[in-house]
Amino acid sequence: MNSNVLQTPIAYLKGVGPNRAGTLQSELGIHTYQDLINLFPHRYIDKTQYYKIGQLQRTSSEVQIIGKIVNIKTVEQKKGKRLVAKFIDDTGEMELVWFRGQKWIRENLKLNISYVIFGKINWFNGAFSMPHPEMELWEDHEKGLKMYMQPVYPSTEKLANKGLTNKVTNKLIQQLFLETKGRFKETLSPSLIAELGLISKGEALFNIHFPKNQELLAKAQFRLKFEELFYIQLQLISKNLLHKQKIKGYNFDKVGTLFKTFYEHHLPFKLTNAQKRVIKEIRADLGSNAQMNRLLQGDVGSGKTIVALMTMLLAIDNGYQACLMAPTEILANQHFMGVKELLGDIGVNIALLTGSVKKSARKIIHEQLENGELHILIGTHALLEDKVTYKNLGLAIVDEQHRFGVAQRARLWHKNDIPPHVLVMTATPIPRTLAMSLYGDLDISTIDELPPGRKPIKTVHRYDSNRLKVFQFIRDEIKKGRQVYVVYPLIQESEALDYKDLMDGYESITRDFPLPDYQISIVHGKMKPADKDYEMERFVKGETQIMVATTVIEVGVNVPNASVMIIESAERFGLSQLHQLRGRVGRGAEQSFCILMTGHKLSSDSKTRLETMVGTNDGFQIAEVDLKLRGPGDLMGTQQSGVLHLKIADIIKDNDILKLARYHAFKILKEDIALQKHPIILHAYTQLVKYKNIWNYIS
Ligand code: ADP
Ligand code: MG
Repeated sequence: MNSNVLQTPIAYLKGVGPNRAGTLQSELGIHTYQDLINLFPHRYIDKTQYYKIGQLQRTSSEVQIIGKIVNIKTVEQKKGKRLVAKFIDDTGEMELVWFRGQKWIRENLKLNISYVIFGKINWFNGAFSMPHPEMELWEDHEKGLKMYMQPVYPSTEKLANKGLTNKVTNKLIQQLFLETKGRFKETLSPSLIAELGLISKGEALFNIHFPKNQELLAKAQFRLKFEELFYIQLQLISKNLLHKQKIKGYNFDKVGTLFKTFYEHHLPFKLTNAQKRVIKEIRADLGSNAQMNRLLQGDVGSGKTIVALMTMLLAIDNGYQACLMAPTEILANQHFMGVKELLGDIGVNIALLTGSVKKSARKIIHEQLENGELHILIGTHALLEDKVTYKNLGLAIVDEQHRFGVAQRARLWHKNDIPPHVLVMTATPIPRTLAMSLYGDLDISTIDELPPGRKPIKTVHRYDSNRLKVFQFIRDEIKKGRQVYVVYPLIQESEALDYKDLMDGYESITRDFPLPDYQISIVHGKMKPADKDYEMERFVKGETQIMVATTVIEVGVNVPNASVMIIESAERFGLSQLHQLRGRVGRGAEQSFCILMTGHKLSSDSKTRLETMVGTNDGFQIAEVDLKLRGPGDLMGTQQSGVLHLKIADIIKDNDILKLARYHAFKILKEDIALQKHPIILHAYTQLVKYKNIWNYIS
């Protein structure tokens, strides 16, 4: 049928009208016929099967059984009466239970006559029971035989109150099939359908709403999930490919003096194979005439900074400037100091720009950026200010990107006519397939190897009641010359309380670790940047042995002599945060420790998180667990949680289908980016984009 009919406003569907249309719109986002067709059931009640009592499993939830009631009695309880019937078939017995409407039921139920019952079963005291079963005499049931799987649609209280019950929704969808004669235009090419053995679009839509049996339902689900993921991948991949075709980038074809000199004379260690590979990937991008848009992921401590630095040298060798943006002042500062030290007297001009740089110094930086004297600018969000203009910015590097919004990332390169190459670095490892769907338009490089000689961090979980022992351990480590972090949670919603915890903790630590033997730093978000830096500096220089802090030290900070990380109220941190924090230690030659302190009361998710941390140091493994616990939305931080509003597929559970979809989308686009040889796909894709029915990917 003409696909435009599917754009008919939902109010025109018989049985809807303006009133219900309003509710459907506000509650479920249904504006058109198309939207209603795409309202997929989230589960089904299987009434195609009849169970025997003897077959019931403790896991069976909703079942349909044929049997007879042999007796019925009222049981008195503290909380009131209940009516209990003994229900049997030729394989066993169970109880039917009613708490409400007992009188009517007692008067109307017939003993020793076959009934078909349907409902949720419970397992209690060694027996199965079913509260408030749906019941029908077998005789009636047989006459009106309805053998199908009943769809259950997403619902809200408001929908139910307005009479849009599941039954009504189902009726409306039936009506829609009637009006459209169930003829839906095919949206995948014949070759894909044949190759993957898919059922047609029409058949899939029919069976997702009115499945004839389990097998057809499974086929319908597969086809629709594949299609959904396929078009998302098609969008992402074509964006990426078009980007490479269209967006001209500066061509860094020279590997010049600076890069070579640095590589031969200044490199303080041998690069790992992973670092070498990643630098090769970056160099290929930079010499390809297209703008680089690359995500560099690597676990904490995997050595991303040196990769960033060498990339910047490539830019300078080719006559361009580079900038490096970090999420916090401390981190920007540390990058600045680190890069400066690595470069030595190689002849590169580099400056630091943060919120606390004075006006006069700032003015000089602005001037030198514009006249090209300055080669590298490192800083915080201050780099995004309008006053910051470059002579010729060729490369922008963003560190720890999960702290930056996507919009901010974009601001960096909207300052030039030709966009600079962009390298985004993150230490939050994203499982590969998820990365592909979230960052389908970025290329991904992964450092999957730590520099040699690192001793794995030993992680333990200790209860608050063990604090004395933990403190003794700290004393012993400090005696050996080590430094210690003690980190407190700071969560916006409970900020006041958290500060109190932090200050209480600080006080108790100063009592247990008194002057002059012990020097203690404290850093938190309410301090002035200058004070923060001062405290941080003291710790970096080794003047203080203990750093009490909130999560401000989470990212990037590098103090190799710090070998103990104590995380207070560890149950309140997410996995990726715990992993980031732990990454602050284990940076030197000494054995490092991470101690997760918690109270005794722990949720099962908290337990899983703690066990995971104790069990592994592998960031990718941790990310997988995190993904399972929190789902993909949370993983990326709330700002991006809206990204994955899928109608039927599930990024995690349907990972295999995702891979398949990606494979086929790539294969098609690689040969035919304009989709000229795939008219059906082109048309379906255009429609999706036109009516914004496609996943709204932000970038
Ligand atoms: P991250 O990826 O977390 O930003 P860094 O770049 O800060 O990691 O590197 C962590 C530490 O490892 C630094 O002290 C750095 O000097 C060191 N490092 C990086 N690469 C190597 C290497 N190939 N061999 C030895 N040490 C290295
Ligand atoms: Mg880093």
